Amino acid sequence: MGQFWIKMYSYYYSRFNHRDYVRGLNNYGLTCCINALLQSFSATPELLELLEKYHPAENERNKVPMKLKNTLCAMRKDQKHHSPHRDFIDCLHHHSIHRMHLTRFIQHDADEIFHSILNLTQKQMIDKDLAEEIRKVYEIKVETQVMCKECGHIEKTPNSLYSLPLAIREGDNTLESCVQSFTQQEPLRSGNECYCDWCMKKQPTTHQLKLVSLPSVLCIHLKRFRNYGNTRKLNDRVTFPETLNMNIFNGQSENAKEFYSLYGVIVHLGSAFSGHYTAFIRDTPDQNWFYADDSSVRQATWKDVQETYEGRMTAYLLLYRKMSESASG
Ligand SMILES: [Zn+2]
Repeated sequence: MGQFWIKMYSYYYSRFNHRDYVRGLNNYGLTCCINALLQSFSATPELLELLEKYHPAENERNKVPMKLKNTLCAMRKDQKHHSPHRDFIDCLHHHSIHRMHLTRFIQHDADEIFHSILNLTQKQMIDKDLAEEIRKVYEIKVETQVMCKECGHIEKTPNSLYSLPLAIREGDNTLESCVQSFTQQEPLRSGNECYCDWCMKKQPTTHQLKLVSLPSVLCIHLKRFRNYGNTRKLNDRVTFPETLNMNIFNGQSENAKEFYSLYGVIVHLGSAFSGHYTAFIRDTPDQNWFYADDSSVRQATWKDVQETYEGRMTAYLLLYRKMSESASG
């Protein structure tokens, strides 16, 4: 159960520029999914800086946000702490077991756990202003638009998401093509007409999702698990860039100098029934990638990350950080 340590340097973030190590995390019985997510959170200074401001009350000490803060702090320090995440894992299981069917020793879905951690943080943090700031780091605002084909009236329903769920087609996909199909106008299936307030009767409609605003940390969920009676994993190819042009989201940036930079990839290995999660992370664009597989951590390259485009070892969640040209130099 040796911890593996790799030396790394960070000059970019003032507060957290002394991250000397990426530390591995022991696996306590199928906790690889939580371990991989913790690695991604530990490479998210936008979250760490807010948790740094968090001073919980006495009755919050056994809650998820406090345990998350402690874990992430311990992960970034040069301390041979035996298992900084053990408490967090126990706490997460304790608080989500009834609501999420999040039992130990069954395979978890990384996107569900990602949501569970953020939702419990929102719910359990007494400082609601701070909780709101944390929510905003990840919040993707979308709008569902249902248009009546007869009169053109559009019914808009706002919604917010922590990850952008993108469907995958058989064959070759690019991240851009997945985003396009996410926002594509789709006719509702026949027999599935919607009531139009203006026509005052059921009419054929089209259905479209609009991206209203994108957050500073964008989590993209490649929907590789599909349920056709049985859950199956799609190993089809999805390419994604290290630097993502905001143009693919159809003018979602007011600032032409803004772009997204990839800093985390949660990887799923294996099938829908027996799998394993690992993570690629890096703190800033000019730094090396690291590959964390539970307690083992090694340096990696962008080429290694690209190996997860398809096959049995595939990218499942992508984490992009918003940057601007002036700040990236
Ligand atoms: Zn109508």
